[in-house]
Amino acid sequence: MNSSLPQHYREILKALGEDPEREGLLDTPKRAAKAMQYLCHGYEQTLEQIVNGALFASDNDEMVIVQDIELYSLCEHHLLPFIGKAHVAYIPTGKVLGLSKIARIVDMFARRLQIQENLTRQIAEAVRDVTGAAGVAVVIEAKHMCMMMRGVEKQNSVMNTSVMLGAFRDSSTTRQEFLQLIGRSK
Ligand SMILES: [Zn+2]
Repeated sequence: MNSSLPQHYREILKALGEDPEREGLLDTPKRAAKAMQYLCHGYEQTLEQIVNGALFASDNDEMVIVQDIELYSLCEHHLLPFIGKAHVAYIPTGKVLGLSKIARIVDMFARRLQIQENLTRQIAEAVRDVTGAAGVAVVIEAKHMCMMMRGVEKQNSVMNTSVMLGAFRDSSTTRQEFLQLIGRSK
């Protein structure tokens, strides 16, 4: 762990008007630092590490979809969580990715400070770069604590973002098929 992080949390507690010496808070700076570092562990990962050679030759050229990938991230504006689901699809051209890898790619980017739009794009581009897919689609639906707990307090609003690359962008049929499969088409 970065050794100065607990010290900074101690300062934050003081600045908030708390007494960092009271019993309930004694270990809080250390715990908070550890938790925050865990929530940002995506900075220590690279795409190469995550994929780790799990690319397999395949003549499948049908859409591969991984749906309902749990997503936990922190918004870079407020350092508050946003939580939701990601749906990822790609159309392979000779190479498919090991099944768990898509979820791990989502996690690597989510475990950094993010805005949802950039997160969606980073996932899509990473999947494209790794697989050389003919198209990649990513849809993320998430609830943002910075909206729910403060400010406008819109407690049920879900933010939706999508990025369509290649065939998903060029062909409305392909795009519709994907949206239908994830239950998002009208
Ligand atoms: Zn925010």
